[in-house]
Amino acid sequence: MSSKLIDLENIESPVKSPIIESTVDFIRKIYGDGAIPLHRPIFDGNEKAYLSDCIDSNFVSSAGAKVFEFEDKVASFTGAKHAVAVVNGTNALQVALLVAGVNAGDEVITQALTFVATCNAISYAGANPVFIDVDKDTVGMSPASLREFLEGNAFRKGGQAFNKSSGKRIKACLPMHTFGLPCRIQEISDICKEWGIHLVEDAAESLGSFYGKRHTGTFGLLGAISFNGNKIITTGGGGMLLTDDDQLAKRAKHITTTAKIPHKYEFWHDEVGFNYRLPSLNAALGVAQMEQLHWMLEMKERVAREYCEFFSSIGWQMVHPLQNCKSNNWLNAIVLGNQKERNAFLEYTNEKNIMTRPIWRLMSELEMFKHCQNDGLKNSKWLEERVVNLPSSVPNEFK
Ligand SMILES: *Cc1c(COP(=O)(O)O)cnc(C)c1O
Repeated sequence: MSSKLIDLENIESPVKSPIIESTVDFIRKIYGDGAIPLHRPIFDGNEKAYLSDCIDSNFVSSAGAKVFEFEDKVASFTGAKHAVAVVNGTNALQVALLVAGVNAGDEVITQALTFVATCNAISYAGANPVFIDVDKDTVGMSPASLREFLEGNAFRKGGQAFNKSSGKRIKACLPMHTFGLPCRIQEISDICKEWGIHLVEDAAESLGSFYGKRHTGTFGLLGAISFNGNKIITTGGGGMLLTDDDQLAKRAKHITTTAKIPHKYEFWHDEVGFNYRLPSLNAALGVAQMEQLHWMLEMKERVAREYCEFFSSIGWQMVHPLQNCKSNNWLNAIVLGNQKERNAFLEYTNEKNIMTRPIWRLMSELEMFKHCQNDGLKNSKWLEERVVNLPSSVPNEFK
């Protein structure tokens, strides 16, 4: 991957160059004047009506039909057999790992190039992350790096995988579909099966993204989606677990609803559970948002197409989904030539009130995950220095 260098000689202080300025003009042409956020929610459907239903019926909290309706809608859209709503995407990941059997002292393989919630969820389960490199094209976990790591650093015993250096069980693998771009999930799934490692997908950013014909988050034992305010659709805050496994779905529902044994009036709980139930108010928003998802995805595709045409005309590199995949185009991203160019671009655009932001810092650089094993993370470091997200909301004029 390469991109045409910005003419750094011509970048003055405050940073500018003709090519960055033409990018700013292009973004202004799409989004108009004023401050341009990275991603804003759209409430153009039945949001207010469904919220009123909740208030009028007194079902605003964790009981009521809206939660089940929302779960059904997400299950049928994604093709997952079960969907279990929870208060946010981080908790969805935490519970997914828990019901997949991840315990204190286990190891979970993930990518260092991700949002911190992925690794926080692993920590909540008492497990340690192990960081594997990503592919440059998908910005998601590299199956080649995963295989290489396992062959060099793990051994099998009784159909399970163990880390040679720590002696600990590698219980799960948690890849992430970055910005909605599906990673090579089928290959990752095959490797996990060979090694007896449970696959759990962080599909927080990828509602509406498909690998082949199959929705992301449905390749593993479980997947997790987020409905935070900046995601493709939002419930204010919210998350969803996906699984085809009847028992795991039942257990996820049970432990996220205080582990209460259903009974007309008795309070009986059979383990330490969580109060992670999604309130009806949030689910009402979710039902309305799901009704607009198809339209939203079409509009997001239009934005991505326009960016793509513009950047190919100036010779800059965008991140594109793999040929056999469909991205939800949640956040558009460009790959700049080097860190200096990236900084110049971020500086200039943000100064112009256009919100652009760099990809996350590697988890392996954060204090709490510094000690965790990694495989060198060559591509992750390369991308960390170059990738920038662009404003990606559905523009008003598209509606
Ligand atoms: C948003 C996000 C989460 C967490 O979702 P919340 O609903 O904010 O808790 C987890 N992983 C990734 C990759 C995300 O982008």
